[in-house]
Amino acid sequence: MREKVYMVPNQPTPNRAVDFNPDICNGCNRCAQICRNDVLMPNAEKGKPPIVLYPDECWSCGCCVQECNRPGAIEMLHPLNQSIVVIWKRKETGQEFRLGMKNPPAPNTRPAAG
Ligand code: SF4
Ligand code: SF4
Repeated sequence: MREKVYMVPNQPTPNRAVDFNPDICNGCNRCAQICRNDVLMPNAEKGKPPIVLYPDECWSCGCCVQECNRPGAIEMLHPLNQSIVVIWKRKETGQEFRLGMKNPPAPNTRPAAG
């Protein structure tokens, strides 16, 4: 028995995970193959960018972008909550702080685990 299987992107989600530039992407699917969460699926049309099928499952790990060898073909779209928190680190002391913090916490002196 032969049955057809359809892939339908999750349109209502606000998260887009990655963006492709169809003028640069050649549809090689290296990014789709490396994605450990199967967020990306090969496009049924040869030569077209992969389809972002499950953007909510994206870990924002960046493996897909690193795997691509065509600069500009794929771009990470970091979730908003990861884009606006910036942690700065003092060169001299290694102290981490956020801009605008009145009383930055003392440096973390615990040794690394493991
Ligand atoms: S974004 Fe890069 S790795 Fe992914 S299909 Fe396009 S060219 Fe290939
Ligand atoms: S960032 Fe990571 S999890 Fe998200 S689509 Fe790329 S490889 Fe998959």
